[in-house]
Amino acid sequence: MYKILDEDSIRDYVDNTKEIRDLLLKNDQSINELEANEIGDGNLNFVYILKVGEKSIILKQAVPYLRCVGKEYPLSRIRMTFEIEALKTEKQLCPSFVPDIFYSSHYMSVVVMQNLNQHKILRDEMISRVQFPLLSEHISTFLAGTLFYTSDFYMDSGKKKEHVKKFINKELCKITEDFIFTHPYENNDTNEYNPKLDLKYVKKFREDTEIKAAVLEMKYKFMTNAQALLHGDLHTGSIMLNQKETYVIDPEFAFYGPIGFDIGIYLANLIMNYLSVSDEEVKYKEYVKVMVKETWEKFAQKFKNNMIENEKKRNSLQFEYPNGLNDFEYFVDKFIREIFEDTIGFASCEMFRRTVGLAKVADIVGIEDLELRAKKEAKILGTASLFIKSKSKISTIDKIISIIEK
Ligand code: ADP
Ligand code: MG
Repeated sequence: MYKILDEDSIRDYVDNTKEIRDLLLKNDQSINELEANEIGDGNLNFVYILKVGEKSIILKQAVPYLRCVGKEYPLSRIRMTFEIEALKTEKQLCPSFVPDIFYSSHYMSVVVMQNLNQHKILRDEMISRVQFPLLSEHISTFLAGTLFYTSDFYMDSGKKKEHVKKFINKELCKITEDFIFTHPYENNDTNEYNPKLDLKYVKKFREDTEIKAAVLEMKYKFMTNAQALLHGDLHTGSIMLNQKETYVIDPEFAFYGPIGFDIGIYLANLIMNYLSVSDEEVKYKEYVKVMVKETWEKFAQKFKNNMIENEKKRNSLQFEYPNGLNDFEYFVDKFIREIFEDTIGFASCEMFRRTVGLAKVADIVGIEDLELRAKKEAKILGTASLFIKSKSKISTIDKIISIIEK
């Protein structure tokens, strides 16, 4: 039976769940040796560190409401089932970038995983200006791996369709549809913004038909284009890392959607960090720019390699072309170009909503001087507007870099 855990009741639960108990305690050891602390800073769920001596693990539980709002905002805990299934799939495809999963229970909406206590949240690290030279290499491998190997380019046609069905994540998709693609572009009670942000900037993009049509285009793609299994919430708060290792956590928004969505959300969060930093911090800003560039370029190269390598074997999308692999390569380049355009479109939507929608990024709201913050926010809105309007004409990542530099 499902039961909401807390720091006290979790003891009984661990004591009575052999698979978890055995991870921490020897047979004759008492449960009294267990230390349990809730550390969740997330919006949705509860995260506990369970510790006995030197051993520690993480237990995450979904509750049937939205944690950050409260019990009056019900949200079915089936989201943990999607998180568990996505973690397992990602772990198979990219083992070094996903925490070890030790135990999961759908009916308790619980997952038990590796404690990443040698790692920190990327967003916090970027706010402290810590640099990670290996990050783009790691994230691009994660993106190219998860997005290629769950797509029709790799999977058996029938199995892929089964996979799409398995990941019909209605409720969390609706949250994205509402809070990324709808509310920020209209008058809605959930929107919040800096009182010092001149409303002309907000009005400007809300009343711009071209922008609204482009956002709608992205929303429709999000809803209908089941290209690959997405993480669904790949912002810099979903990455834990140190100088050697990078882990992607929290895939409860996973579903089959457009490949450019994960890349766009991630790049948008790098770009918002870039725009939050003052011009004097030259070296750090250079580093973020290099990350934006490398992430895209490495992703595109790895995705293409996966496509070409796999093409040498038979797959569902293969047929005979007049010029063999050359023709296929022409198709691949065209396809990657489309992913790039989607990436820019989704990045823009993320930048809009993090500025005038409900959820904010700490990189920006951490700026205490509201006037200064408003300047950065106006820049984010301007940059996002330019991105989304010219996405079909921006052909290289260098062009993206030159836009954010201005
Ligand atoms: P939510 O779904 O509520 O957003 P997250 O999965 O983002 O929850 O986790 C919330 C916080 O808990 C993270 O920001 C991180 O600080 C911590 N956390 C989550 N998973 C781990 C882990 N495997 N190891 C260490 N800390 C973790
Ligand atoms: Mg989270």
